[in-house]
Amino acid sequence: MFSQAMYELGTKKSTIRTIFEYGRKRAAVVGEDNIYDYSLGNPNVPAPTYIKQAIFDILNEEDPCAVHGYTIAPGLTVVREKLAKSVNRRFATKFSAKNFFITGGAAGAITITFKALSEPGDEFVTFAPFFPEYKCFVESTGAKLVVVPAQPSDFQINFAEFEKRISKKTKAIIVNSPNNPSGVIYSEDTIKTLAKILEKKEKEYGHPIFLISDEPYREIAYDGIEVPYLTHYYADTIICYSYSKSFSLPGERIGYILIPDETASSEQIYGAVAGAARVLTHVNAPSLFQRVIARCCDMPSDISTYQKNGTLLYNGLVEAGFKCIKPQGAFYLFPESLEPDDYAFCKKAQEFDLLLVPGTDFGCPGHFRASYCIKTSIIEKSLPVFKKLAESYGI
Ligand code: PLP
Repeated sequence: MFSQAMYELGTKKSTIRTIFEYGRKRAAVVGEDNIYDYSLGNPNVPAPTYIKQAIFDILNEEDPCAVHGYTIAPGLTVVREKLAKSVNRRFATKFSAKNFFITGGAAGAITITFKALSEPGDEFVTFAPFFPEYKCFVESTGAKLVVVPAQPSDFQINFAEFEKRISKKTKAIIVNSPNNPSGVIYSEDTIKTLAKILEKKEKEYGHPIFLISDEPYREIAYDGIEVPYLTHYYADTIICYSYSKSFSLPGERIGYILIPDETASSEQIYGAVAGAARVLTHVNAPSLFQRVIARCCDMPSDISTYQKNGTLLYNGLVEAGFKCIKPQGAFYLFPESLEPDDYAFCKKAQEFDLLLVPGTDFGCPGHFRASYCIKTSIIEKSLPVFKKLAESYGI
């Protein structure tokens, strides 16, 4: 009568959603400032004023039929030209408009890319901890998601485990750096080693293995840490970018897929991306926001609040006795839970009105995620509560 698989996807709430909804109910009882909701990755920094200005200017200056009309499916050529110029300037690359396909954020970009690449029997490999939506996005194409266990000492890639899981069936590798949920940035050494293994395996198997870089947090990198630009390290790279986090525009749905000329069968892949977008009812990315990013893509992101929050939370947690990697980017901390069962730990934290997400949901048990894109005052107020939680474990 209907798809059981889709029914389950649509009705089974994710742990993050369940915790968030619990938080809303609990806030109505104890008050907004007495609930420490670290569940969602929704930017709490308002979109920069230049975005607002660009919207006003576009609405005042441009033809409303064009502003609100359909665009061609890959996005306006003038916009893609601007994006290419901006990326070339920042990363010393040589892209042009034809390499870009503008999408509804990173979710649109990765889903379209997975569908464009996927053939029966394919496997996509990713590294724990990972963004949980990869699983249903990959599986919706008929392919399988293969997860490489985490390397909790630094959350770089566990290459020994990776080599055990890569096979002839591997169509692509998905990386996400700065990472949700670990907050870690893959080092240049990690990327070089990954590229070397992939090149070797491509030769061995006689087919390309694509490297899909899901990078909605590229701009959120602290203390000048470089986020390597992957097309410089590996030819068969496809970039999936988003403005959701860097410009605080998650509700506007804007991002892009970048397929370099150097990528194997790049023209055919671009065609397959257009086809996948078509069946996924992409039509076109939001027309107004295509124009907004064309005007603003060279502007800097303001990451100062996230950096301040990350440092505050990290120092507070370490002082309370938690083990955690110092934030390098994105807006998440991923400490060890104080008991091996991370679900039991997060349940216990809930009794203290601390809303944390179990690491198991990201393929990494024994940890929890705290999204620190929340009010700084709430983080400050929560630190003694984390201490009490730790004390309840005898720490
Ligand atoms: N990829 C990762 C790793 C994310 O954390 C998110 C959102 O949180 C997405 C993709 C989807 O982002 P977008 O809003 O750009 O679709």
